Amino acid sequence: MNTPCIICVAITGSVPGKSNNPAVPITIEEQVESTHEAFEAGASIVHAHVRDDNGKPTSEPERFARLVEGVRQHCPGMIIQLSTGGRSGAGQERGGMLPLRPDMASLAVGSNNFPTRVYENPPELVDWLAAEMIHYNIKPEVEVFDLSHMHKAREMWLNGQIRGRPYVQFVMGVKNAMPADRDVFDYYVRSVQRLFGLDAPWCAAGIGAHQIELNEWAVACGGHARTGLEDNVRLDRQTLAPSNAALVERVVELCERYERTVATWQEARKILGLSAPV
Ligand SMILES: [Zn+2]
Repeated sequence: MNTPCIICVAITGSVPGKSNNPAVPITIEEQVESTHEAFEAGASIVHAHVRDDNGKPTSEPERFARLVEGVRQHCPGMIIQLSTGGRSGAGQERGGMLPLRPDMASLAVGSNNFPTRVYENPPELVDWLAAEMIHYNIKPEVEVFDLSHMHKAREMWLNGQIRGRPYVQFVMGVKNAMPADRDVFDYYVRSVQRLFGLDAPWCAAGIGAHQIELNEWAVACGGHARTGLEDNVRLDRQTLAPSNAALVERVVELCERYERTVATWQEARKILGLSAPV
């Protein structure tokens, strides 16, 4: 198991706020500082959403632009992945920040249920987001909330809607979507190998208490790991995570335990086929 492990830190998300954990970075300044700490701790990808002045999710491109500028300045080389997720806008608003040309963007390729709503990703929007990502030379991270999403990613790869081998992330433990089920996880890994190639990189994310569980499964199985306050605000049932960096450190410890090195940003860019930083 000598592939370095890429750690992605999902710093903010659309849901958690200061009332859930005061360490959740909300303003751009807080986000840049939190990203910097996580970068120093070992994260090589930042997955980011932005919030408005009231702390509500938004897709305002100007806010994303300030965040991208801050991260590029304070975390040189770090891979910037912007969310095109559905909680922060409707329709094509979700891709309004893609002209900023981040290294990566998240791409949902199908619909499913979320805790209190439908996560709606209609085919024409998926096609449009994928086309915009090709236009701006952005590598998608395909969010796999369901097995069908992996097959859709393969179809999009074969028909040229996704350039280069798709990088998929299994998301498990979202209420009303796929639970953190070990058999499903193992089947996901086998499916990646069958659909995208034996050496295709993949990532896994778990929600809430499942975060550390998915981190361990991924590190142990040669995958890459996502952590961060977006998915989980606690270290354990009683303890709030003091920072995004503290959650990154948990993954670094897992890497030590499973004898994986932590990918530098240079290694992460190589594994993902990304060009040199801007
Ligand atoms: Zn997100």
